[in-house]
Amino acid sequence: MDKRPCKIIKEQGFDYNTVTDSWKKTSHNWLRKTHIVNLTMMLKSEAVSHELLGEDYTDNAEKLREILDKYNGTAFEGFTGDEVLSGLDPTRGTECCAVVEQMYSYEEIFAKTGDNKWVERLEMLAFNALPATLSEDMWTHQYVQQVNQIACQKTMIMAPWSTNGPYAHTFGLEPNFGCCTANFSQGWPKFALSAFMHSGNKIINSVMLPSVLKADGVTIRLETDYPFNNKMHYYIDAQKDFDFVIRIPSFAKNLKVNGKSAESRDLEFAISIGKTEIEIEFTATPYFKERPNNLYALQMGSLLFSVPVAYEKKMREYTKKGVERKFPYCDYQFIPKTPWNYGYADSDFEIIQNKISDIPFSQANPPVSIKANMRQIDWGHKFPYRSIARKTPKSGKPISEVQQVELYPYGCARLRMTEMPLID
Ligand SMILES: [Zn+2]
Repeated sequence: MDKRPCKIIKEQGFDYNTVTDSWKKTSHNWLRKTHIVNLTMMLKSEAVSHELLGEDYTDNAEKLREILDKYNGTAFEGFTGDEVLSGLDPTRGTECCAVVEQMYSYEEIFAKTGDNKWVERLEMLAFNALPATLSEDMWTHQYVQQVNQIACQKTMIMAPWSTNGPYAHTFGLEPNFGCCTANFSQGWPKFALSAFMHSGNKIINSVMLPSVLKADGVTIRLETDYPFNNKMHYYIDAQKDFDFVIRIPSFAKNLKVNGKSAESRDLEFAISIGKTEIEIEFTATPYFKERPNNLYALQMGSLLFSVPVAYEKKMREYTKKGVERKFPYCDYQFIPKTPWNYGYADSDFEIIQNKISDIPFSQANPPVSIKANMRQIDWGHKFPYRSIARKTPKSGKPISEVQQVELYPYGCARLRMTEMPLID
């Protein structure tokens, strides 16, 4: 490989910490014109190239991620963007391709660096953004998902996106451009492949997914309903000795290993030939995650929780470029049927564990939910649309008594409100 372009940059002594604020602003303006999917793919560039180029790893992905998050971050650790970056409004969309490419970047960065922060952000994308933008049967997907998404209906021709058409957030085979149709299916398989990794004689459980690892002389079966509850049971059958590392998320509290309290969260086990079982258990606490514009998202572990909005599903069959889009590969619009204009009345929460169904991210059967005390407010629609919420509420003044609302995981709620204010 010709290393010259990289060497030139290195010889110029580029150091992000020494650049001026005006340069940072200029570079951000330049980033705004760059396609969001290219940016999410690019995050892994140093991790996958530095060894090849004989260069030190400097974690430049973190610096890039910080800029993107500051100006375009979402509650699920992704970025807004329909092609170009779109700011901090929770009703601006995030392209499906950007979600799966950002997931893959974080899988690669974690594989190269072993730095837990990347796999924790990966979980946020995989357990929230990815399931939310796919229909439960996976026949349809959105081009762009919204964090606060009160409807998936055709908008006016002048759609509220930078570049997309009026159907971009409806569910379909190809609701906008075809890239997401080709791309969305990489999300789950690559995520599953990242559940276990290895380094020499060490096997690492990176993400606690229900899975089976069959490696050379080792079988590990992990039974779990994570991230909906935090109990893991490992069944190990080894024909050779190896070291087994289990990554414990930073939010985990009251960690127990085989029923006993663990003093350290750095779990490494020397596994001998034969059968071994390991049980892991921990707890997670719901909390308000601060978002821009005085809004808050409710998070517990790696799950965001949203007010689910019930909807009527309206089928849309049509022919485009000579190709029939008929059932089951038709499109759907979701028309809201229940209120969405809420704010939090306090921070008292009740966690409800339900039985997990064949479709874990189901709006009809959420495996876990949180009851919260909420009040309705005059939120209003974004002018001139009738199916897009305002970026922030028109008024924070309550217009209802306190009512208990059951919030669902973001990934279960295809229509939802996620970023909401705290009401006095
Ligand atoms: Zn796409």
